[in-house]
Amino acid sequence: MDLTGRHALVTGGGRGIGRAVAAVLKTAGARVSIIGRNAASLQAAVSDDAADAFATADVADEAALSAAMQELSADQPFDIVVANAGGVETGPFMRSDAARFRRMLELNLIGTVNAFHAALPGMSERGQGRLIAIASTAGHRGYPYVSAYAAAKHAVIGLVRSLALETARTGVTVNAVCPGYTDTDMVADSLAAITAKTGRPGEQALAELVKANPQGRLIAPEEVAAAVLYLCGPASGAITGQSILINGGEF
Ligand code: NAP
Repeated sequence: MDLTGRHALVTGGGRGIGRAVAAVLKTAGARVSIIGRNAASLQAAVSDDAADAFATADVADEAALSAAMQELSADQPFDIVVANAGGVETGPFMRSDAARFRRMLELNLIGTVNAFHAALPGMSERGQGRLIAIASTAGHRGYPYVSAYAAAKHAVIGLVRSLALETARTGVTVNAVCPGYTDTDMVADSLAAITAKTGRPGEQALAELVKANPQGRLIAPEEVAAAVLYLCGPASGAITGQSILINGGEF
């Protein structure tokens, strides 16, 4: 895969899945810009050669994200946007109030909408582009105690399916990549929360969590990144409106 000459943006590219995506796109020759809230982890990714440049913004803040994207693309527009930034809040439905649902929608859905809104006009004008959302298996099926997160990720997949139809004749493809439990801070934080709430040791909590994956393991961030890389290349031009599951055969 040769992405030389392409400019890619990865939101949440400072750590976890986003950093693996940034690194694989850079290795393929793309110029890679990353955005997140934490300047230290973004700077570390650039220093480690996983990205070329960064800016800080909260993806849920439309004006801030748009300004950061403009700054990073001032001399070269984005050919690829990977809306990866996201996060989960856990809790039973009756303890998940409307504010939690709004926070999950703001971060996971509106954060994706904001990134796509900022990049799509230029892509359509140039007649080529790749919009990719990192959704989740929780965008395809339910899981207990994450109703707000699952609702937001289902919404991301609805967005991708609809926008793909709007852009079908423009040269821009729109897809989602949907990982199962992946070995990042997000899962480490969930395991720590389970241990804190139930007293179950971390290894036991992990064993229960990976039972969801028939392969009996966590997905590696690089395995998610490999699917993103494929979607960025010229051979994937006919793939649009899809949500690709990276889940060890979970369903
Ligand atoms: P992670 O390790 O917790 O990283 C989250 C990333 O998102 C960080 O780079 C963080 O950057 C960024 N971020 C979070 N809130 C942000 C905000 N408001 N504005 C800008 N950036 C923000 O999580 P991950 O596992 O890599 O998750 C990446 C994506 O994969 C998420 O959309 C997640 O829902 C999805 N996913 C993860 C799993 C999993 O099991 N790990 C499974 C399915 C789907 P800063 O800290 O710099 O803000």
